[in-house]
Amino acid sequence: MGKSQSFCNKPRTLETSGVSVTPNQEADADLIKRFGPDVLVVAAGSEVQRPDIPGIDLSHVKLATEALMNQKTIKEPILIADGGLVGCEVAVYFGSEGKKVTLVEMLSEVAFDLDAVSRLELLEMLKENNISILKETHVVDIKKEQLKVRRNGAERSIDAKTFIIAMSMRPRREIFGEFAHLAPASIAVGDCATPGKIGDAIHDGANKTLNLSTVSQW
Ligand SMILES: Cc1cc2nc3c(=O)[nH]c(=O)nc-3n(C[C@H](O)[C@H](O)[C@H](O)COP(=O)(O)OP(=O)(O)OC[C@H]3O[C@@H](n4cnc5c(N)ncnc54)[C@H](O)[C@@H]3O)c2cc1C
Repeated sequence: MGKSQSFCNKPRTLETSGVSVTPNQEADADLIKRFGPDVLVVAAGSEVQRPDIPGIDLSHVKLATEALMNQKTIKEPILIADGGLVGCEVAVYFGSEGKKVTLVEMLSEVAFDLDAVSRLELLEMLKENNISILKETHVVDIKKEQLKVRRNGAERSIDAKTFIIAMSMRPRREIFGEFAHLAPASIAVGDCATPGKIGDAIHDGANKTLNLSTVSQW
């Protein structure tokens, strides 16, 4: 590879690697064309999907990432769906600030997508932070200060001034699609390829870049 440059906001982890980092710089087609990379690695991450529930576009409905970035606007009581890693972590975060938080999960367990040791730790944190957990429960309707949930066919209403969506993550493949043709070879890595955990993203990036000689267009 001739030139190499990374457009990300984690310079400290890269400062000893010889990679040039440009923080607060959005990569767009013009910038990539000007740079003219031999290989383009797109690591644009993923985003939470908005489920198709009546009321989903109301202003008190926030994606998990939006809620964390705009914490001052988050009013309690908070209802979070669902109870995978992201939902549990967001619940612990707001619970640790003393906010009243309820976690709704349609399966019979929460934190199901973690290894056994991390799961036990997270379950303990949910308990310590007084997070109410409703299992085998679906959100069926969102109103301004109330949500309707269903469990075993029975519906009930729950007060919630903020509804946080932490459901499945969607890879930001459209960014890869927009840029892929701008280099002779392009790869999507990490959550942008397949949403997972930090370790998965690091391994995916390492494995794919170590095998660059076999890459044409991914
Ligand atoms: C709330 C939450 C909690 C989580 N907790 C855990 C956890 O405890 N443990 C765990 O293992 N995983 C956790 N995850 C998952 C983990 O964060 C991801 O798997 C991991 O961050 C993916 O890394 P990535 O580098 O592929 O993408 P990201 O970390 O999402 O990074 C993508 C980056 O690309 C940047 N970007 C996007 N488009 C452009 C562009 N055009 N130009 C320049 N930059 C751009 C974005 O700003 C972002 O910084 C959590 C996820 C969330 C949302």
